[in-house]
Formats: sequence, structure tokens, C-alpha cells
Amino acid sequence: MDGCLFCEIALKKRPAEVVSETDEAVVFKDANPKTRVHLLIVPKKHIASVSDAGDDDRAMLGGLILAARDAARREGLAGYKLMFNVGRDGGQVIDHIHLHLMGN
Ligand code: 5GP
Ligand code: ZN
Repeated sequence: MDGCLFCEIALKKRPAEVVSETDEAVVFKDANPKTRVHLLIVPKKHIASVSDAGDDDRAMLGGLILAARDAARREGLAGYKLMFNVGRDGGQVIDHIHLHLMGN
């Protein structure tokens, strides 16, 4: 979507520290990390938030969790947090679905 920061990163129109990529998602370092390892798992498809996802997004959304699992393994994390912020009241600032992977 035009003007969407995370669409631009996913389409390589804007730089980011990308650590991995699948057909459906990119994984990159959060610019303002809150933990030692703080990655964002971002689908290439623009969907504003989890509350805007449809039933046909089920597999893609599951893929985000597995991409996070793989990234955590590569980082050597034994434990970590996975978090979706949903909507302004849920702390979401960027209106393109993203899964936070956080670990120390
Ligand atoms: P939210 O609060 O929407 O769930 O999280 C947005 C996250 O995106 C924040 O943790 C913030 O640090 C990160 N972020 C915002 N702008 C950029 C950017 O341009 N590049 C990267 N890599 N991360 C960003
Ligand atoms: Zn977008």
C-alpha cells in the first residue's frame, strides 16, 4: 500500500536490517529494540492489523509464527516473547500487521 512504511521495507524500497525472508514475510531488526534481540516479522501482504485479517489469511498468519520460531532458533534463544499489538488502544503504531519477537 502506498505510503505504508512496512510495505516499503517488505518490498525493499526502504532500508532495514533484514535477517530472513520467505515468500510471504520478511524478518528485520526493530529500529528501537526493547530487548537484546527484537525482530519484527512482517507479511508482504498489506493488512492493517490482526482485527482486519480475514479467514483466508489464516495460513499466512500461522506462517508468521513459524517464521518467528525459525528466527528465534537462529538467534539461539531458549525462550522469548511473541506479541501482536492490535489497534491504537493495544499499542499499535504502525498500521501493517507485525509480530514482535523479543528475547534476551
Ligand atoms: P507497534 O507499536 O506498531 O506494534 O510497533 C512498531 C515497531 O516498529 C516499534 O517497535 C518501532 O521501534 C518499530 N519501527 C518503527 N519504525 C521503524 C523503521 O523505520 N524501521 C524499523 N526497523 N523499525 C521501525
Ligand atoms: Zn503495508
